[in-house]
This record gives sequence, structure tokens and C-alpha cells, in this order.
Amino acid sequence: MNNNIKPTILFVDDEEGIRDVIKTFLKRFSKEFYLASNGQEGLEIYKQYKPDIVISDIKMPIMNGIEMAENIKKINEEQYIIFTTAFSDSDYFIKAIELSINDYLLKPINLPKLKQKIEHLSNQLNLNNLVKKQTELINEIATILEGLLIVVNENKDIIFMNNNALDFFQITHLNEFQEKHNFIGDLFLKSDYFYEENIQDDSWIDKIENMNEKERIVVMLDINKMIPKSFLLDVKHSNISSNKIIQFTEITSIVLENKKLLKRAFFDELTKLNNRAYFNQEIKKEIETAKRYNLKFCLIFFDIDHFKNFNDSYGHQIGDEVLKELAKIIQDNSRKTDISARWGGEEFVLVLTNTDIENALLATKHLKNLIQNHKFKDDLTLTCSFGITEFKKEDTSKKLLARADKALYKAKENGRNRIEIIK
Ligand code: GH3
Ligand code: MG
Ligand code: MG
Repeated sequence: MNNNIKPTILFVDDEEGIRDVIKTFLKRFSKEFYLASNGQEGLEIYKQYKPDIVISDIKMPIMNGIEMAENIKKINEEQYIIFTTAFSDSDYFIKAIELSINDYLLKPINLPKLKQKIEHLSNQLNLNNLVKKQTELINEIATILEGLLIVVNENKDIIFMNNNALDFFQITHLNEFQEKHNFIGDLFLKSDYFYEENIQDDSWIDKIENMNEKERIVVMLDINKMIPKSFLLDVKHSNISSNKIIQFTEITSIVLENKKLLKRAFFDELTKLNNRAYFNQEIKKEIETAKRYNLKFCLIFFDIDHFKNFNDSYGHQIGDEVLKELAKIIQDNSRKTDISARWGGEEFVLVLTNTDIENALLATKHLKNLIQNHKFKDDLTLTCSFGITEFKKEDTSKKLLARADKALYKAKENGRNRIEIIK
């Protein structure tokens, strides 16, 4: 019987003669062979040995074949059962069909036909076993893979999840996902990365695929630990089906590290203000916004007067302290929407968003007075010179900065501790 593993068989019939013939015949084709003379005996043997195939007569004393089959199907819905039946058993036979038995044989039993059926069933059993083993293997491999693995079909229905994914979504079986979470995309948190509002389906998978590989990042809440985690997504197409395999690799620590680095790259250590790199990035955004929405804004450059002398007189360390205090004045005096930064040395830059030149002048006068009236460390005082300019539609950041710088230069030239405007 092929190279397959032989099945275990239970044969049930109340006629001793039949049992003897079948036993002699089937023993060769089975790994284990069990005999019973009625349904009850058959059921007991079934419970004990769980044979692969049950072949049973229908009409028997104590418990008939139908009743036995009903009981067996309660234990194992998938159990292979073949009934042997005479023509006169037709009422029973209909019941047997309702029980979704796998096959039947007319009595007297044709032995070659029986052999054929057993072979057929045995092949099917072996195939099922193989599929089961393969599925177990896939699951095992998918578990070893780090991160979450989800397979969706062409309708974006989830057809597979590895154990990591099941754990992450707090479900024990795939079927529970829909009830608990609706769509995968529903679980994405609002972040600097990929996010969609009002997810109605999982069409985000296509969008993610069209994104640059490095941008395919989503943030999801780990409900087990109640912390947000970042995942890098990879979508692969199956070669043999229209399925898509989506891999979620956790990169929370990299994302956090990146954010820290980014912050450091845009941050001035001494004054805790943003630095020139940050400003250069933000001013470009501000110019775009102002152009699109036809908004006004002003740029102010300012610089401490005679700071070299200050350092010479009081020392560099006091100079540093003063710079920190001045930064605090700037910070406390800025609106949330303003952009302030240390341009370098003792030079600062300020963007007053949504502000025309008149109001920029008022704000700058206020800041100039705050600084000149402020008692710094050891009651020291200092002044600053200011250059103001207003954004024009045709401005680039370079042109804008050059005008403000020119205005500042003018303020220095004209005696310091003053404000100059170049429109
Ligand atoms: P002006 O009124 O023309 O601006 O004169 P100034 O002396 O302020 O300008 P100058 O450009 O000649 O000198 C700038 C000084 O600022 C020199 C430098 O020591 C000082 N400075 C720049 N950065 C720092 C800093 O981080 N800490 C300290 N303590 N001093 C700084
Ligand atoms: Mg100076
Ligand atoms: Mg200077």
C-alpha cells in the first residue's frame, strides 16, 4: 500500500463469518486492526484506540452502526467512517448520509473494492497528516522569526498570524482578531510616522508598499505592556498566490535613539535654545506656509553689544552664565509659534509668525527693554542691537537672512543698543 504509513482500522459487524473474512483480508493493509461485534463494543474500542478508519455494519444488536457513528462523530467530527450496507437498509442509509459518513460498501463486501477504498482513505489521511505537519512547521518557523508576521489574501483578509502577532494582539486564534480589533490599521497610533484617520479597511497595505522603505514605520500600542512600540513594515508578495506577507519588526529603541539624536542635533547645549541647523529647517517650512496661506512674518537678528569686552572684563565663565540668562529671557518672551534659536556665539535669531513689521517692532522694543533693564549675574547689565525685516513673497531663506543681517549691521553702525528695519 504505497510507501505511506498504514492506517489503523476498526471493523464492526455482528456476523462472525464476515468478521473472520475481513480480518484475514484487512490485517495486511493495516497497522493495527480491531474487531467489534456491535456498536457498543465498537464505540468502546474507538474511545480506547482512536483508529484512523472505522468500517461498520449498520444493523446490529445492542447498538446499531448509525448510533455508534453519531457517538464517534461527537468525539471526532472528522473521523473516517465507511458503512457496509445491504439494499434493504435504505432507511438507515439515508441517515448515514446525513451523518456525513465518508463512504459506503454494499454487502456482500467486495474485497478488492474494500481494498481500493482503504487505500484511498489512507492516502487522504497521509496527506492530511503531511499538511498538519507542514502547518506546524510553518508556525514553528514563523515563531522563531522576530517580530509579528501577518499574511493577508487579495481581499486583505488575514489568513495567517504567527504566535508573536497573536500574543501582541492578545488573541489565541486568528478568528478573534476581527471581533476584537476590526482592522490592523485601527491599531496604528498617531505619530510622526505612518498614520491614517478613520480606517475603514486595510487599504493602507498598498500605501505602505508605495512608500520609501525607511519610512514604512507605524506605532502600535502594546496592550500587554501598555506602551507604544514602533515597527518597521515589510510587505512581501507570495510567489504562489496573491497573498501578501507583512512583517512588523520592532524598532522602538532605534526610533527613540534617533529622536534623541535628532534633538541633540538641533539643540544648543549651553543655552538650551534650538540651534542654527534647527532654525534653517524651520524657516524653510515657515516660508512655505506663509506663501501658501498668504501670511506675514518677520525675522529679527540680534547680537550682544561689545560682548568681547564683557568677556575680557568678567571672564568667559561669567559670559557663559550671561548667555544662559539671556536665552531664558528670549524663551520666556516668545510665543509658542515663534521660532527662536542661537545663531552662533552671541547672536540670536527670532521669527515672529503671523506678525507684520509694526507689531514686530513693538515686540522687539519690548525685548530690547527687557534685556537692557535686566540685572544679570553680579548685577551686570548689557544691551543688544537688533535688525528686523519682513518676509516678502519672492524671498528665499537666504535673502531674508541677508536683509536681517544687514539691518543688524546698520544698528551696530548707528551706535548699538538700537533697532533698525530693512523692509
Ligand atoms: P559687537 O558689539 O560689534 O557685536 O561687539 P562684540 O565684541 O560683541 O563682537 P565680536 O564679534 O567682536 O565678538 C564676539 C564675542 O562674543 C567674542 C566671543 O568671545 C564672545 N562669545 C561668543 N560665543 C561665546 C560663548 O559661548 N561664551 C562666551 N563667554 N563668549 C562668547
Ligand atoms: Mg556682539
Ligand atoms: Mg557678533
